[in-house]
Amino acid sequence: MKFDTAYSLALDEKLSIYDVRELNFDETAAFDSDKDSFLCPNNECRVAFAAGNVLGTFNAKNVNYRRTPHFKNTPSTRHIEGCRYASRKAVAGESEDEREESFPSEFVLTRRQYERKTSALGTEGSAALDPAKTSSNTIGTSHSAGDITPDKTSVFAHPVECYVSNIDDKDKLKHMPLKIGEHTATYWTFFKKIEYLQDNHGLIYWGRIKAIKDYTSSFRIDFEKKVWLDKKPYSVNVYLNKKLIESYRKRKAFLEQIKAAVDSERPLYCFFYGVTPSLKQVPSKKNPEQRFGVFSADIENLDHLIIREAPGLEAAK
Ligand SMILES: [Zn+2]
Repeated sequence: MKFDTAYSLALDEKLSIYDVRELNFDETAAFDSDKDSFLCPNNECRVAFAAGNVLGTFNAKNVNYRRTPHFKNTPSTRHIEGCRYASRKAVAGESEDEREESFPSEFVLTRRQYERKTSALGTEGSAALDPAKTSSNTIGTSHSAGDITPDKTSVFAHPVECYVSNIDDKDKLKHMPLKIGEHTATYWTFFKKIEYLQDNHGLIYWGRIKAIKDYTSSFRIDFEKKVWLDKKPYSVNVYLNKKLIESYRKRKAFLEQIKAAVDSERPLYCFFYGVTPSLKQVPSKKNPEQRFGVFSADIENLDHLIIREAPGLEAAK
């Protein structure tokens, strides 16, 4: 049994496993999922048991994962009768379904703010009266996104995992709605292979990585596939400014990800949102007098870029 969300005892709210990963990797957040307790998201079920009746996490801390992260029952987790999370107990050696089944209907472009509640359990209504305490316990610095429900996510990895793990079920991807900014489409439409980036602006582009170059001030990700324009093929790449990475709140995790990618022998894919590579004329290295065309873009927000393995995409080719 997979859980779409779990109740975090430390934050006193429901989180997706992708929220948990965000918090684990966020160097500005005093959060460690190993020190938190995750409980059944069904309120009725949760209050029926003591706080020690916890769920387990899978891939909550692994930067480079292949299998879908999730919350799961432990062998000792109990549920009330009728709880929809009670259907199956985890048993040793159980092979979990690999799919992400919880499709957020909206990818929210501003980061969710996770607030650590200051009140003790059971003193509802008196929470957060001390402003000094409140601010020191607030995790994250972005605006308050109080309207985020489990149906929305601000973690890019979540819709990407939905797409990657369900790539063999095109009908599902073509039916599942996804809203980003002002645009509503389906998962299938929003994810665009990099070689077709001229079809439409403002999509999630993805493609297999050909190489990652480590330059003094930036990384450059080269895609394997080329874009065709006027019957001519053009290379596609995106640049990641190292200053951007240095000031990134998930700097360590990001560097771990990209450094592993530079040396990786396995097929890797890059997904990004927010910029559309466009045709640029750049000087040739061998002969600076000469210029050649390349589709290129500078990544502006590292939250909206992922480098990962995607065995399903490999098989679906
Ligand atoms: Zn339950």
